[in-house]
Amino acid sequence: MIKKIRKLPKTIPWQTKLVLSGSTAIFLTFFLFSFLEYHSVSKWMLKREEFAVKRTLTDITTYYKERPDNSIENEIKNSNEFLRKMNDKDQLIRVYDHDGKILVSDKNGIFPVLEPSPVNVKRIEKISAEENDAIIARYPLKINHFQGTIEIVRELNSYKKMMEHLFMVMTLFGIAAIILSAISGIILAQQLLKPIRDLAGTMKKIKESGFQGRMNGYKQEDELTELSNLFNEMMDEIEKSFLQQKQFIEDASHELRTPASILEGHLSLLNRWGKKDPAILDESLEASLQEVLKLKSLIINLLELTRAENSRISHSQEFVNVPDFLYQLVKNFEMIHPEFQFKIRINNLYKPLVLPEQHLHQILIILLDNAIKYSGENKQILIIGEQNEHSTILAVEDFGIGIPPEHVSKVFNRFYRVDKARNRDNGGTGLGLSIAKRLIANNKGTISIESKVGAGTRVSINFPFVRVK
Ligand code: ADP
Repeated sequence: MIKKIRKLPKTIPWQTKLVLSGSTAIFLTFFLFSFLEYHSVSKWMLKREEFAVKRTLTDITTYYKERPDNSIENEIKNSNEFLRKMNDKDQLIRVYDHDGKILVSDKNGIFPVLEPSPVNVKRIEKISAEENDAIIARYPLKINHFQGTIEIVRELNSYKKMMEHLFMVMTLFGIAAIILSAISGIILAQQLLKPIRDLAGTMKKIKESGFQGRMNGYKQEDELTELSNLFNEMMDEIEKSFLQQKQFIEDASHELRTPASILEGHLSLLNRWGKKDPAILDESLEASLQEVLKLKSLIINLLELTRAENSRISHSQEFVNVPDFLYQLVKNFEMIHPEFQFKIRINNLYKPLVLPEQHLHQILIILLDNAIKYSGENKQILIIGEQNEHSTILAVEDFGIGIPPEHVSKVFNRFYRVDKARNRDNGGTGLGLSIAKRLIANNKGTISIESKVGAGTRVSINFPFVRVK
């Protein structure tokens, strides 16, 4: 049983929940308000009735007191005319002596037979008998030797009618309020749920037929508009990154296809002729090995690029002492490329760089490799390290073939090579600068190129100072 009750709200749709809770809240508020109002009106009306009775009693008492003293009983007996004037609708006025003998009586309406009940003190009470409510008030009347009681019985018919009327009006208003609140609840819930339904519909469409689906704009500016705008922006981002990934896979497979086809060509040549011809065997094996190396470096570069693209902005707390780092790096390069002259120029470089040393290593290897690959006849390479007020600047400069101006902005694109055929031969994959740019961006830096065909190229990196926590 408990389980059933707990499960129930989950099965009720949101629209019904909103309508039910809204209507219940309005109904309860209205009920409470009506209840209090009914009771205070009832109390006030009863007070008014009581007040009217008291006033009549006082007036009658005053009237009798002003009569001559000696014949008071007779005066009372003869006061029918006066009592009729004083009497109201649904009201009985009697005066009896202290034995209960009725001296005078006037009634306006039908009353049950009531036993006289003489009193010594003022007494007012409310009685209910057979659906009839009434106020009975008795005042003692003492004038010299005479002792009696003035009694008023006032039926509460108009009070009852008034209260019945009020009850009916309140009930009708209550029903109208519930209906109105339910209708407005339905309208509000529909308005509220429309964007959410649209969102669900759009998501379903996207699931079935691709990334193109978007939420429609809404006129009103509210939280739900913000939600749908956010959803659209998120979908734009997802679509963009999906298209980028697709393009990347297409480019990568295209790049991998060339060495694979060349390798296939050499191997089939070997298969057909190479076994008998040692010259073909040698040449083809050598060429195949070259292609395998290119394939390997392409795959390594691809992996590095993916890794760099997937890693988030670095919040490294590693410090690199730039001069030490550069001297060590150049020492290694001098060993591998003894035909080159590397020159380091350091200016004003006091602060350490805040970034993972591994990243800086990878970036400079790419730039130095390029400087070597595209150096042409001039075998000099200049490495610059300096600091200004805001940042550390590192640059690698060669005096080689340079880059034509129309290509400069494109060399950071993946697989972009200025001279496709020639660059392939010197082992270029077109990925180096994209990897470097991504690694630099991950460390909040920027990269730029200045180049002149035939004169050389300078690649500069700028790392703004970071505040270390
Ligand atoms: P790659 O592996 O082909 O060198 P990169 O992304 O490092 O790929 O460079 C992209 C292209 O930019 C190169 O193919 C080359 O044409 C050009 N390039 C890069 N660095 C230099 C440089 N120092 N001098 C001349 N051209 C360069």
